[in-house]
Order: sequence, then C-alpha cells, then structure tokens
Amino acid sequence: MELSRYSVIEDKNPREIVLLRGRGCAWKRCRFCDYHLDASLDEQDNLALNREALSHVTGQYHRLEVINSGSFAELHPSTLLEIDRVCQERNIQDLHVESHWLFRKTLPGLREHFDAMGIRLHVKIGVETFDAVYREQVLDKGIDETDPAVIAAPFDDCCLLFGLSGQSVESMKRDVETGLAHFHRVCINIMVPNTTSVQPDLAVREAFVREIYPLYKDNPRVDILLENTDFGVGEKL
Ligand code: SF4
Repeated sequence: MELSRYSVIEDKNPREIVLLRGRGCAWKRCRFCDYHLDASLDEQDNLALNREALSHVTGQYHRLEVINSGSFAELHPSTLLEIDRVCQERNIQDLHVESHWLFRKTLPGLREHFDAMGIRLHVKIGVETFDAVYREQVLDKGIDETDPAVIAAPFDDCCLLFGLSGQSVESMKRDVETGLAHFHRVCINIMVPNTTSVQPDLAVREAFVREIYPLYKDNPRVDILLENTDFGVGEKL
C-alpha cells in the first residue's frame, strides 16, 4: 500500500502533518481499524522513512501534527530525536500527537520534554464514542473508564468515529457535545470501507451529513474528516 506521508492542512487550525511509522500499535484490537498494519520492527528502515517525511516540514505555520498509526510512545527514540531536531530547526511552537489510553502515564514526561523546548504538546485520544458499552463491547477500544472527565484529564483533544450501525443523530450529537465539554478540540472521522468486517452504515453517514455536519462544520474546535484521507496523509487515492 502506498501512503502519502506529508501534507499541509490549510483550513481550521492550519498545520503541517506527517504520517510516521513505528513499531506498531500495542493494542491492535479496535474492530474497525486496519491502519495499525502500517508498522515495522526495522528501526533503521522506519528512521529512513520518517526522516524523509519530516524533511518536508517547513514550519510555515509553526504547528506540526505527527501521527503514526498507533501511539506517539511507539515511535523509536531515534525518530523522536529527529522530531526534536525538526521542531527546533523549523521553529515549531505547537506539536500535535496521538496516544491510546494505555500510554496515558507517558504523557506528563512527554509534556515536560517538549515544554523545556518551548513547544506546547497537544495529545489526541481516539475515544470514538462516549457510550462506554458500545465503545468496549462493539468496538473493543480498550478504554477501561466510563467517565468522560476522567478520560479527558491526561489528554487535550479527542477523535470520534461516526457512520456506524447503531448510532443515531441523537447519539452522534451527544458525543460531539460531550467531546466539546471535556476536550479542547474534537476530530470527527467518518467510517469508510476498509479491510475489517466493520462496514460504514450509509444511513447513519447520510444522517450525519444532513443533520450533524451543518451544526459543526464552521466550529473552529471541530475537525470533520468525511474521508480518512481528508488531512492529505494516508492511502493514496
Ligand atoms: S489504538 Fe488506534 S491504531 Fe491501535 S487498533 Fe485502535 S484505532 Fe487502530
């Protein structure tokens, strides 16, 4: 699979974004996910690929998002040094990364590390929904906590996943409002067909586009990805 690994997001919260590769997601159980397949245990190979992606960063917005089909903590220290170097050389002031709930205890140290460099760290967690029963029994997300405030405490931003059977206009709206109440920013992903057995529910997707999208499309705290390549990284179309 050929992947685009660098892009620039021009609209809300303008930033550059790179898709790096690490040792792979430690969880790998989310039933809707196949992008954890973008992984390798070959550190040198990962480093070469990550260097290439990072070489495109210009610092034009002083804001960089680093994602890696898993958690930031799964990137090798050699890649982390490259990220530090590029952030300093390109005058990055805000760095956005992602982390699974499993790695929440790594985040205070990471914040201190970037703080010492004068960089604000923004950590996003994939919550997908605040309906804990659906999230754990249907999606197998691996968050053993039901209280949104407790989930949000170590993090800054969250991802939600819509377009799934069993969701409704009411449940999606409730999820967005809960996300906005507890997190700085909410990123909504819409389920697209992939190699897993979870398929998009077209009626739910249509309901989202008709009734939820108009409510939040101009909200500066909400990103909406109708296709999972809307940020310009990921599978080449
Ligand atoms: S934690 Fe992220 S990368 Fe890992 S299986 Fe779940 S969605 Fe996929």
